[in-house]
Amino acid sequence: MDKTVRLYDTDAYGTDFEAQILDTVPAPEGLALVLDRTFFFPEEGGQSADTGVLGGYPVIDVQIRDEVITHTIAVPETEREAAGTRLAPGETVQGCIDFGRRFSNMQNHTGEHILSGLMHRKYGFDNVGFHLSDNNVTLDVNGQLSREQIDDLEREANEVVWRNVPVRAEYPDAKTLSETDYRSKKEIEGDVRLVTIEGVDCCACCAPHVRRTGEIGQIRIIRVQHEKSKMRLFILCGARALAYAQHSLKEAEEISHLLNLPPEEIAAGTVKLKEDAQKQYFKMIGLQMRYLELRVKAALADAQSDPDDSCVFLFEEELDRDRQREAVNRLCEGRTGYGAVFSGTDENGWFYIIGAGTAGDCDARKLNTALKEHFGARGGGSAQMVQGQVRAQREAIQSLLHN
Ligand SMILES: [Zn+2]
Repeated sequence: MDKTVRLYDTDAYGTDFEAQILDTVPAPEGLALVLDRTFFFPEEGGQSADTGVLGGYPVIDVQIRDEVITHTIAVPETEREAAGTRLAPGETVQGCIDFGRRFSNMQNHTGEHILSGLMHRKYGFDNVGFHLSDNNVTLDVNGQLSREQIDDLEREANEVVWRNVPVRAEYPDAKTLSETDYRSKKEIEGDVRLVTIEGVDCCACCAPHVRRTGEIGQIRIIRVQHEKSKMRLFILCGARALAYAQHSLKEAEEISHLLNLPPEEIAAGTVKLKEDAQKQYFKMIGLQMRYLELRVKAALADAQSDPDDSCVFLFEEELDRDRQREAVNRLCEGRTGYGAVFSGTDENGWFYIIGAGTAGDCDARKLNTALKEHFGARGGGSAQMVQGQVRAQREAIQSLLHN
């Protein structure tokens, strides 16, 4: 198969083209076409493929292998036969790439070169992985930078944008290449395409880039993931950086309304909110303790008045786990029957702790087994104490336990 001429190689801004079809094969989604030339950039070097229209159908995948580029188009099943005839080898076809998406990729890709180039110059770190898809732009680096260094790097990268430096892509001859210092992720066979950002970076790369750095608009490092001796930068450039900033500002605005504070005070306001919530939590725990104490006292008094039933089963709404355990201990201390506290609701189920009275010879596991058999409870423990979860009506549980 003849190699496909990569029109995007020399013209990153071209969109519409006519090509000759070299091969057509069926694909699960439609047809796969090999063309003699194309503006579609294939999935390569960590970057996702261009989208667009070819022969009137959407292009859903573009792959390159041995310099032959295959375009997969989505064709409805009812049209496949006719499309196969119309788009047969030897026929010509019209193609057009989605330039909005491509330009966004060019902005992000060129921004990545600037960041990697600066990082290499300043810290000697290498870009060891790059990923550019619709959802994510990441850059893996074989070193670690501090928060301040990352802020500096971001600022310097944006200065390169402001200087509006030319970006050139060319295939130097062997002699020039051997005399040029350039970054490369791997050993390259055949012609090496060098992408030079004047005074900033020189890197071997196959992808389309913007003509001048000003077109990138802005470069943002939105998140950093540190990992041993490596680091992953999540970056966004150009239109995507703008969309991200707009979204972030909207979020901040919403939080500002909710907190009833100006946007520049929302972090401090959130700290205060968390502190208030914690205070409320401790207050609630204190109230639960006092409430449970009263409930336990009343239950013990009731139990004392009925010598036939020394068991006490309490049902309460959503208790703190430690308070629940304390109450069970109180119910079992020096007594003969079972002491149990169920926390929850009929709707959401109950978390139970069942204890055996310390002065008797009850086995708490018996009740656990009964709950398992009747209601499919899940739990376990020792003869002294079991705990678990059960989804059943309170009345049904009570009648089971009392029998
Ligand atoms: Zn590149």
